Amino acid sequence: MLKEKPKEIIKEKIEEELKHLEVEIKNLIEQSKPITPDCTLDDIGRTEAMTEVMVKSKILEQAQLRYTQLKNALLRIDDEMFGICVECEEPIDIERIMVRPESIRCVKCAN
Ligand SMILES: [Zn+2]
Repeated sequence: MLKEKPKEIIKEKIEEELKHLEVEIKNLIEQSKPITPDCTLDDIGRTEAMTEVMVKSKILEQAQLRYTQLKNALLRIDDEMFGICVECEEPIDIERIMVRPESIRCVKCAN
């Protein structure tokens, strides 16, 4: 189990990141809505608009995945297995947890 202090810091970090992601996801949903046929656009313009929507949906997908992972990390943070690698059961580097609190594997096992 993590010491109290870093745990609090990580908790705050996750909550901050979740708030940030919520805004981002809302914006991305707005931006990746299917485009309404626009007669002023030519074929190239339409293709570009569609590509743009596809790229945005991809980013949205990743943001939603990260959001879920961070939510899970927040649920697991009080668990004594938090910060322990699921593969080798060694403690994960605290620096790694700080950067990516959703990590469930140590650097060695993740690569
Ligand atoms: Zn490991």
